[in-house]
Amino acid sequence: MGNDIVTVASFDKPFEAHMARVKLEAEGIRSIVSDEHLVTMDPLLGYAVGGIKVEVSREDAAAAHAILEHVASERSKPREPDAASTAESDADANLCPRCGSDQISVHRSGTRFSWLTIVFIGFPIGRSKPQHTCGACAHNWR
Ligand SMILES: [Zn+2]
Repeated sequence: MGNDIVTVASFDKPFEAHMARVKLEAEGIRSIVSDEHLVTMDPLLGYAVGGIKVEVSREDAAAAHAILEHVASERSKPREPDAASTAESDADANLCPRCGSDQISVHRSGTRFSWLTIVFIGFPIGRSKPQHTCGACAHNWR
C-alpha cells in the first residue's frame, strides 16, 4: 500500500508546484513534490525530466486532477479587457469560486500568499495582489 504513485501535475517553478501541493493538502490529499532540486539547479535538465512534478497515490489521482483543474481554470480566466467592466468584475470577485458563498474577505497585502512564497522560495512575491478568502469554506484565491 502507498507505493503506487502517479504524477498529477508538473511545473516549471518550485513555488507553483508547492502551491499545488498545499492546495491538495488543504483538500486532504497527501502529495509530494519531486525533482524540485534537480530542476532548480538545472532548468534544462528540468525540461528533460518533465519539470517539477506533484505526485499523489493512485487512489487520490482522480480527486487531485479535479482540484488542480479547478485551480488552473481559475488562473486562466481572461483579464478584464477595459475599465468599463470593472464593476462587474468586482461583483464576480465577491463570490467564492468553489462554493459560491458571498462571505468574502479581501486582503490587499496578500500576506498568506507572500508567507507561502517566503517559506518556499525565500522571498515574498504577489504582495500587491489582492488575496480573497472565503468565510464559508476557507477557500483562498487571487
Ligand atoms: Zn467558499
